Amino acid sequence: MQSTVSILGATGSIGESAADILERDRRLGAGARFRVRAVTAGTKVAELAAVARRLGAEMAVIRDVGSYRALKEALAGTGIDVAAGEEAVCEAAALPVDRLISAIVGAAGVAPTAAGIRAGNDVALANKECLICAGAAFMALARQMGVRILPVDSEHNAIHQLLAGHDPAAIDKLVLTASGGPFRARSAADLARVTVEEALCHPTWSMGPKITIDSATLMNKGLELIEAHHLFAFPPEQLDVLIHPQSKVHAFIVFRDGSWHGELGAPDMRRPIAYCLNWPERAETATSHLDLAEIGTLSFEKPDMQRFPALRIAREALARGGGSTTVLNAANEVAVAGFLGRQISFMAIPALVEEVLEAADRAGLLHEPESVETALALDGRARQLAKLRLTEAA
Ligand code: NAD
Ligand code: MG
Repeated sequence: MQSTVSILGATGSIGESAADILERDRRLGAGARFRVRAVTAGTKVAELAAVARRLGAEMAVIRDVGSYRALKEALAGTGIDVAAGEEAVCEAAALPVDRLISAIVGAAGVAPTAAGIRAGNDVALANKECLICAGAAFMALARQMGVRILPVDSEHNAIHQLLAGHDPAAIDKLVLTASGGPFRARSAADLARVTVEEALCHPTWSMGPKITIDSATLMNKGLELIEAHHLFAFPPEQLDVLIHPQSKVHAFIVFRDGSWHGELGAPDMRRPIAYCLNWPERAETATSHLDLAEIGTLSFEKPDMQRFPALRIAREALARGGGSTTVLNAANEVAVAGFLGRQISFMAIPALVEEVLEAADRAGLLHEPESVETALALDGRARQLAKLRLTEAA
């Protein structure tokens, strides 16, 4: 029996890695394990048409309505259905599949992923912003629909593997590793001057621009603590971060008796994606296997919250709970776009996020969103506050 799959964000970094797995599988012909239903993208018509053809998808959907005709032309004669617009992306997410790969970047991924969950689709979740923006409500919706959320994010994927079969009560803490990003060894004075080009140069992972900047500020690791809290239902004080520059160990779980268990693998997202597609089975992947003797040394250090305030700010938002992480996520998306657009400096990213959190608190906005829709409404309010500050700061 073939499993069916759709990819939201098929033209991105995660989308491409997923497409690589599915294309290799498709070459098996009658022995192929997967069949692709929908692929979606934001604006990249040519790339979307190409991936739809490569994977033999049933349907290709572009979010940008103005690109409908171009996509239709690019796929003429293929028999692949074409649609455009935000609603069409949600409809594509709701086509029944065994796995919905959620790999849109940012809170733009929340509504389509929620539409997929409402249709009863199990989700391979790369879009961590679903959990930062709408955490409790998002997980409640998944529980209510009886769908499984399999984490693609490498650290959470590692924890998913490590926790299997263990009683959570036996576990003292979950430890996420972080590469430390390109600026791990920079002084505070240096950090104030880093350029967009330097920040986009990640030492160990090749990823889309937004998460690459989040990795440079360490906001990504803060977002991942929030993600872990919702996925695994561990309280914030049982979640920890260790800097590990080689990115070979993706996470540890630490038992109450002091035993540490880690998951290791090459920094290649095709491994966690394949895990989520094949779960509960395992399949071979095209990723290289680790040669630990050649690597020789694995090192670990504490994160520096003084030089990287984004991690502290995210931790505080997690501890405070309610709408704090929704606001944190929205403000961070606006700030990162402002940095990439060269409107603000690198260190202005965490500063802007903190200011927006304070403003949202003063405006009484930080109560818990009771549904995914109220989380998205709060996301919209927080973006307004952040954009106002961005124009003041620029
Ligand atoms: P990316 O920027 O490379 O790709 C984003 C995809 O989303 C593209 O296909 C784009 O067309 C689509 N998209 C963007 N805006 C959209 C919109 N408004 N509506 C519909 N589609 C839209 O991003 P990425 O690096 O692949 O990351 C995707 C998600 O996975 C992010 O949430 C990120 O945090 C998470 N993630 C990525 C990695 C990685 O290695 N890249 C690792 C862990 C988690
Ligand atoms: Mg990660």
